[in-house]
Amino acid sequence: MNILVLNCGSSSLKYQLINMEDESVIAKGLVERIGIEGASLTHKPTGKDKFVLETSIPDHNVAVKLVLDALVDPAHGVIASTDEIGAIGHRVLHAGEKYKESCVVTEDVKKVIRECFDLGPLHNPANLIGIEAAEAAMPGKVNVAVWDTAFGGTMEPKAYLYAIPREYYEKYHIRRYGFHGTSHMFVSGETIKFAGLDKDQAKVIVCHLGNGASISASIGGKCVDTSMGLTPLEGLIMGTRSGDLDPAILEFLCNHENLSISEMLNILNKKSGILGMSGISSDFRDLLAEVGKGNKVACDTLEAYAYRVAKYIGSYVAAMNGVDAIAFTAGVGENNADIRRMVMNYFGYLGVKIDDAKNNGAHGETTLISSDDSKVKVVVLPTNEELAIARDTLALAK
Ligand code: ADP
Repeated sequence: MNILVLNCGSSSLKYQLINMEDESVIAKGLVERIGIEGASLTHKPTGKDKFVLETSIPDHNVAVKLVLDALVDPAHGVIASTDEIGAIGHRVLHAGEKYKESCVVTEDVKKVIRECFDLGPLHNPANLIGIEAAEAAMPGKVNVAVWDTAFGGTMEPKAYLYAIPREYYEKYHIRRYGFHGTSHMFVSGETIKFAGLDKDQAKVIVCHLGNGASISASIGGKCVDTSMGLTPLEGLIMGTRSGDLDPAILEFLCNHENLSISEMLNILNKKSGILGMSGISSDFRDLLAEVGKGNKVACDTLEAYAYRVAKYIGSYVAAMNGVDAIAFTAGVGENNADIRRMVMNYFGYLGVKIDDAKNNGAHGETTLISSDDSKVKVVVLPTNEELAIARDTLALAK
């Protein structure tokens, strides 16, 4: 069966068509600037030339239609008709506390997505539009919602409750949810398989270090704790997000800089992290180029970044009373040996030993980078959220 995976953002739509016989990608692409001037579709059919269409794309309905047209086009298409699409899997950001597993889209699922607009204001509305556009374009096909918050759904109250008056949890569901859940689920599961660990008992820490960054602890693939909170702002230092900070800083800076809370949150989400700390860039490659030139601010930023990751790993070792494997994934985690080395250097006391040759040689491929006598297995394991969504969709569509 072919599964179409859709990931709708507020002005974008990413897609992949995956043949689940062998889990190969038949085509993938991106619609950008939906509802904005300069919109385009970039369609990449496997084994054929890339196709780019620049045209007016007023909304997600038009975007989904253009994607389907591209998939069945005689020249750059990959299927004869949409009958060859078995089901559609949608990445949906927030399910609140309602759904803790992927599920077939029903009216109740749509209601939950709507109820969580408040908790995922940028993503949930776009996710719902994507679902409704797919339903309209391909009536009768199974649509599946795969939630980014689902993985965090197994956390216990001690991990998800904030130390604020309980009425806020009861009234507004203010708690830690965690994000990048599909990635953490996929990478923790694949790490258990790759490292040959016990599927029910393995204690795994996944460091998802991309532009957004988060870290999770899981036992037997079930999340024990994760670093993002009510929103993706909490936790690690990211490309542009601050991660953890003293909340009193907000009031101080709002007063001194004459900013509103929304303006301050915009700064914490979009102008902080390694971009804000270094003043150089949110992109790690730019930061590392400056580190290479001996730029002190860049070096301090990088040290702070690695230190934060290490502190989270340490706390998750405590939370699980041990760790069997640590996995690095996403753009930075998959590609950057120096950062992996900097983080792992904090864990000599755990008996972690990195094989430098293996670490330096690991770029975007599943690789064991710890040495044979390391007490903890350390792996590089590329994330694949689309495949994880397609697998869940297949399981539910059958
Ligand atoms: P997202 O999906 O959150 O946008 P990615 O997982 O694609 O992010 O990660 C993007 C980050 O990965 C960028 O900061 C980029 O600089 C970094 N990155 C990609 N390749 C490398 C590399 N070879 N070395 C260091 N950082 C890299």
